[in-house]
Amino acid sequence: MDDAAHKQASGTEQEAREGFSPAAYPVGSTPQDPAAAILDVLRQGERFLVCSHTRPDGDAVGSMLAMGMLLEQMGKRAYLVASDRVPAIYRFLPGADKIRHLLRVHGLFDAAILLECDSLERSRVRGLEPYFHINIDHHSTGRNFAHLNWIDRDATSVGEMVHRLVKAAGATVTPEMARCLYTTILTDTGGFIFGAVRESTFALSAELAHAGADPIAIAREIYFSTAESRLRLLGAALSTLHREGPLAWLWVTHEDMVRAAASEEDCEGIVNYAVGIAGVDAAAFLRELPEGRIRLSLRSKGRLDVAAIAVGLGGGGHENAAGVTLDGPMDRAIEQILGVLRIADEKAGHSGA
Ligand code: AMP
Ligand code: MN
Ligand code: MN
Repeated sequence: MDDAAHKQASGTEQEAREGFSPAAYPVGSTPQDPAAAILDVLRQGERFLVCSHTRPDGDAVGSMLAMGMLLEQMGKRAYLVASDRVPAIYRFLPGADKIRHLLRVHGLFDAAILLECDSLERSRVRGLEPYFHINIDHHSTGRNFAHLNWIDRDATSVGEMVHRLVKAAGATVTPEMARCLYTTILTDTGGFIFGAVRESTFALSAELAHAGADPIAIAREIYFSTAESRLRLLGAALSTLHREGPLAWLWVTHEDMVRAAASEEDCEGIVNYAVGIAGVDAAAFLRELPEGRIRLSLRSKGRLDVAAIAVGLGGGGHENAAGVTLDGPMDRAIEQILGVLRIADEKAGHSGA
């Protein structure tokens, strides 16, 4: 939020703007045409907060930026806020420098738009409670926590849903917006190989390429800009690789992180090496956080629903990709997740995907 916004906000903090009547949507509302209902709220308001989840990924960053661009085209003010810095590989996205790194918000906003979150807490941005909440999500574990909720579990990315909003608003998919939206699809499908990828994904991607997203240039930014620290960390992680039939796991300690001079964004994707092993159905990557808790990433080729497993442990995600933070120490967290994975594996039987 800029200084002007700060000043304007003081004194009337966190009240709804006059003339804006969100009463039509009590908490939990799921209107029949959620895109139309969301647009209606956007048209009525003037100033919006846009947030996504902590440790933002390509979908979080790209969909926030595209949502900001849509709001600007509609003549609105958009304040993009994230509790963590934008990872280096996404800083090439147009407008990425407009995402404010803030742990708390306050001020006069007509609504807070939460992208890819199953709760206000998932954003790790504090101070969101008093606002009107709009929830746009595609996680299988999504929840109707907001006033206005739109969850499409078939969407490859929330960016895809933002694109639908752009179309419904009659707004233009600018080349900048196309780059952001294409990135959300590219990254959430791991390069068009998992998640909800299907024929229409390619049609939309072609449309975005036509609108100005250069697939080669974007892929180069994301997949050929690896920090050296990431590769050193990967080496440490691979040296811990364990395998038990269809399950594989690997981990890094905080000391490994320090030794590799790695940041948390260097951990993204390490779990994919383990799930990529022939005959492995599900994999876990565990990272020891500085304070001793353990960040767990789960991936599945499809036979096991890792979202269900993550929910059971207090997290969430998609059937193929999910996560949660567990209590330490590492040995205990490994035993805990293995116990749950073994049970899930047994339940799934040995026929499926
Ligand atoms: P990650 O392993 O961190 O890349 O997360 C995989 C997927 O699970 C992503 O779609 C995340 O948004 C989701 N996810 C991770 N952690 C959580 C959590 N604590 N609650 C809900 N969803 C999560
Ligand atoms: Mn995400
Ligand atoms: Mn996503």
